[in-house]
Amino acid sequence: MDWYEPKFKSNETIENCNECGVCYYICPQTEPLIKLLDEQYSVKDKIGNIENVIAAKTTQEKIEEIGQDGGIVTTSLVYLFEKNLIDAAIVSLYDEELKPEPHIIFDKEELFKAAGTRYSISSQILPLKELYNLSLEIQEEKGIYDIDQLRIAFVGTPCQARAIRKMQYLSIKPAHVIKYLFSLFCFENFDYYKLYEILEKETNVPAENIKKTTIKKNFFVYTKQDEKHEVNIKKLDPAVRNHCHSCDEFTGRYADISVGSSGAPKGYSMIITRTSIGQDIVNLLLSSNYISQYIVPVNERQEWKQKKMNLFNRMVKLKK
Ligand SMILES: Cc1cc2nc3c(=O)[nH]c(=O)nc-3n(C[C@H](O)[C@H](O)[C@H](O)COP(=O)(O)OP(=O)(O)OC[C@H]3O[C@@H](n4cnc5c(N)ncnc54)[C@H](O)[C@@H]3O)c2cc1C
Repeated sequence: MDWYEPKFKSNETIENCNECGVCYYICPQTEPLIKLLDEQYSVKDKIGNIENVIAAKTTQEKIEEIGQDGGIVTTSLVYLFEKNLIDAAIVSLYDEELKPEPHIIFDKEELFKAAGTRYSISSQILPLKELYNLSLEIQEEKGIYDIDQLRIAFVGTPCQARAIRKMQYLSIKPAHVIKYLFSLFCFENFDYYKLYEILEKETNVPAENIKKTTIKKNFFVYTKQDEKHEVNIKKLDPAVRNHCHSCDEFTGRYADISVGSSGAPKGYSMIITRTSIGQDIVNLLLSSNYISQYIVPVNERQEWKQKKMNLFNRMVKLKK
C-alpha cells in the first residue's frame, strides 16, 4: 500500500492481485477466516471470550490528566516499556488540528503524546511496514539484529485488531512481532475532514482550538479556553465511515485486552481480558499498583458483571 492506495495494483499487474488475494483475506470485513479465528480465540458470541471484566483507573497522576477515560491503555504501555516487555508500540499520535497520525514509537515518553481519543480514522496497520526499515540506532539501542526479535504492543479499533489477528493466522509478516493486542471499544468512527467540518459548523470552534472530544451519548467538544460544547450525535451521521455501518463489533473480540468507557463509573475504564496474555498484564498492573480497581458495592456484586455484558450486547445490537 502507498498510504491508502494499493501501489502494486495497475492494469498491467492486476493478475498478481487476482492470484494473491491477501488483501481480501485480511480485510476485517470478509468472512473466510472468521470461523477459524473464533475457534482460536474461543469466540462464541458477539462479545467474545471473557476471562474477566473489571473497571479500573490509572494511579499515575500524569496519565490521569491526559488519558481519555481511566488512562488504562497508556498506563499498560508504560508498564510494558518499563518492565522491558516490549521494544515498541503502535499508537495514534496527532497534529495540532487533531488529525490522527499512526506511529510506531520506541520510547515510553512518546506515549504521553498519544494519550486520549481522536474520533477519526487512524490507520494503525500502516506503521507495520516501517519495521523493515529500522534505523541502525534503534536496532543497537534495542539490541535487535533481526526483525523476529522485536516485541510490539498494538493499539487500535476492533476492526484493526481483527486485521492483525487475520495476518497472524496466515503468518503474514510482520504481524508476528505483535505480542500484546489492545482493542479500544468502538461504536463507529468518523472521516476526519467531514467530522471537523460539521463540528466547526455546529460549535464555531475550529479543530486547532479543540483540546479534547468525548462521546457520552452526544459528542462533546472541550476547547483550549475550557469551554464545553455539546453536539447531537445524529448531526455527525454524514461523517461516519461507511464501513462502520456493516460492522458487528463493539468491544474488539479478538484482542488480548479490550478497553472502553461504556459501563464504567466516572473516571474509570472498563477492561475486558480475553487471553491469558491479557489477564497476566492486568494482574501485574494491579499487583504493582499501576492501576487501581473499582470496588463494586457489595449489594451490586452479584449482578454487576452480567449488567455490563448486557450493555455490551445491547451496543452490538444497536449497531446493527
Ligand atoms: C473511533 C473510536 C470510537 C470509540 N468509541 C467508543 C465507544 O463507543 N464506547 C466506548 O466505551 N469507548 C469508545 N472508544 C474508546 C475510548 O474513547 C477510549 O479510547 C478508551 O476508553 C481507552 O481509554 P483510556 O483512558 O484507557 O486510553 P488512553 O490511556 O487515553 O489511551 C488512548 C489510546 O488510544 C489510541 N488512539 C487514540 N485515538 C485513536 C484512533 N482514532 N484510532 C486508534 N487508536 C487511537 C492512542 O494511541 C492511545 O494509545 C472509542 C475509541 C475510538 C478511537
